Amino acid sequence: MTQQTVLICGGGIGGLAAALVLARQGHRVEVFEQSDAFKEVGAGIQIGPNAFRMFEHLGLTGAIDHVAYYPRNLCMRDVRTGEIVAQVPVAGVAKATYGYPYGVIYRVDLHAVLLDACATQPAVGLYTKAKVERFTQDGDGVAVTLADGRRFRGAALIGADGLWSSVRQAIVGDGAPRVSGHIAYRAVLPASEVPKHLFSPDVVLWGGEKTHLVHYPLRRGELYNLVAVFHSNRYEEGWNVFGDPHELHERFADAVGPVRELLGKIQTWKMWVLCDREPVRNWSQGRVTLLGDAAHPMLQYLAQGACMAIEDAAVLGAALRRADDDFAAAFQEYQRVRYLRTGRVQLTARLYGDIYHASGVTRELRNRMFQSGTESAGFAGLKWLYEGVDPESVLA
Ligand SMILES: Cc1cc2nc3c(=O)[nH]c(=O)nc-3n(C[C@H](O)[C@H](O)[C@H](O)COP(=O)(O)OP(=O)(O)OC[C@H]3O[C@@H](n4cnc5c(N)ncnc54)[C@H](O)[C@@H]3O)c2cc1C
Repeated sequence: MTQQTVLICGGGIGGLAAALVLARQGHRVEVFEQSDAFKEVGAGIQIGPNAFRMFEHLGLTGAIDHVAYYPRNLCMRDVRTGEIVAQVPVAGVAKATYGYPYGVIYRVDLHAVLLDACATQPAVGLYTKAKVERFTQDGDGVAVTLADGRRFRGAALIGADGLWSSVRQAIVGDGAPRVSGHIAYRAVLPASEVPKHLFSPDVVLWGGEKTHLVHYPLRRGELYNLVAVFHSNRYEEGWNVFGDPHELHERFADAVGPVRELLGKIQTWKMWVLCDREPVRNWSQGRVTLLGDAAHPMLQYLAQGACMAIEDAAVLGAALRRADDDFAAAFQEYQRVRYLRTGRVQLTARLYGDIYHASGVTRELRNRMFQSGTESAGFAGLKWLYEGVDPESVLA
């Protein structure tokens, strides 16, 4: 393959993963990030075995292993009674079943691993304060104009510009994302600040009526991550500001003591209004395609948005290699093998939100069903997701 320039709009996890894959395949890559630095917000994310499979594919296993944390169990408890609803001994089960571990990672650390790997590739250009304002394409390539007037030209453009993707608007044109009515408050604190009786080495999800709290250690156990989610129609747009602790305490007023105590430890929360979109079949147009949240934004209930973005990057790379420089053909192939899988995650994530937030008879039924299954039944039910993809054979 001759070296061609690929332009990437967005330097988040998806954009950097794509840059790394394409540079290693011999392309010149220009990554445009609108922020004044390549950085991520401080919060934890869970990483399924399917993404660890991709880390191996990208040669990043060692670097990820250095900063990840591997929980013993995934544990779901009822927030009102404290009873254990389901428990998966994930430390043993994930590797034994899917060949790869289940881990959690600080987003900052995952982003830094990708950024460091990109920095070792001379063919990757990283631009900050580089907001892509518009693009045009013709038979030979794509021209991008930044907000400050700079212009770039390449053989193709990848929109990895997230939930509010402007590249998506030019291709799919489906307007603003769907506001789910679910709000997330996130906080990270030094693990040393968590009292012993509140600390758990597991990923623990406390499910309640229209609320849940997740907590787990991060970065080899040095940090502690909390995510509290509740339903609210007070917020209409997806933005990222500080949360109101009083509102949170109201929402968790009927939670068991340890949960209320843990929430009380945090003074400053960052808030997300959670949005997704309906799955679409087509997110490419000629030499332009989408990747990650720009292509298939999802609610976080399956903990897979970043995992899907990384899978996208690996599959996109394989599709390009196979299409031998034909970007338009490669983008069609890439989306053909991705849209049903990512669409399934988008839709299943909504369902999991309902399960976590169940009330009344639904809640009783949920607890009964989960408690009567084997420890790993729920995890095995996600085989289609966690076994992941082989970027080469999925295209065959
Ligand atoms: C509460 C919560 C919990 C989550 N938990 C998990 C989890 O446990 N596991 C998991 O896998 N995922 C999780 N996710 C999802 C995950 O964070 C996202 O799916 C992932 O970050 C998407 O990466 P991305 O690169 O596609 O988009 P983004 O991270 O949104 O990156 C897009 C980038 O593009 C830039 N950009 C936007 N427009 C322009 C422009 N015009 N020009 C230049 N740059 C631009 C932005 O500044 C940004 O840096 C969670 C999300 C939330 C909200």
